[in-house]
Amino acid sequence: MNYTFSPSPTVSVPVSGRSERFPVHRIYCVGRNYEEHAKEMGFTGREPPFFFLKPADAVVVADEGLTAPLPYPSLTANFHHEIELVVAIGQGGRNIRAEDAAQHIFGYAVGLDMTRRDLQGEMKKQGRPWSIGKGFDHSAPIGAITPAAQAGDIEQAALWLQVNGEDRQRSNVSQLIWNIGEIVQHLSQAWELQPGDLIYTGTPAGVAAVVRGDTLSAGVDGLCGIELKVV
Ligand code: MN
Repeated sequence: MNYTFSPSPTVSVPVSGRSERFPVHRIYCVGRNYEEHAKEMGFTGREPPFFFLKPADAVVVADEGLTAPLPYPSLTANFHHEIELVVAIGQGGRNIRAEDAAQHIFGYAVGLDMTRRDLQGEMKKQGRPWSIGKGFDHSAPIGAITPAAQAGDIEQAALWLQVNGEDRQRSNVSQLIWNIGEIVQHLSQAWELQPGDLIYTGTPAGVAAVVRGDTLSAGVDGLCGIELKVV
């Protein structure tokens, strides 16, 4: 096969305890999936889940035990952190039932849905797409993926994020409005899930801005923690 130029390399994420890597297909994100965060964004109640996407190459791998550089993006003065549990799909499908979702999940990781909040807010106000606020370069930091069998009781796992050692976000996966099975069910009605898809499942309350020089550390119980420095 001849290409007009070399194809982009496959984006991949390390798998905890294994030499193999998880090749990324797409990145789906769930909006407003913790009640306290929905409230802080000016919404209330359980609305149907909604989704947006980030490009696969927005991934920034944060290897365990290292501090990964996170470039401060252009065009923003309000660069927000959102700690999220990430679901890694190992077996694709469409119209997956919530009770069958586990058969499609390879594992879980700690992720950050980094957001240019000022641009997102401006686009919302104008009824325009959010892509510039959510789907920019380096907007999807992620740690190593832990295979599901080694991840413990992920539905009851605490998740947290600190900036420069101080708590910013702290909650529990049990507080998700739409749980993991329900997310997979809804998402797979709208798109055919593929092996390699990542699903950022939503963030709890406490989102706030970071600036150059800040260190973010984040974790989900049972998974590899991550640390990044904004540069
Ligand atoms: Mn989010």
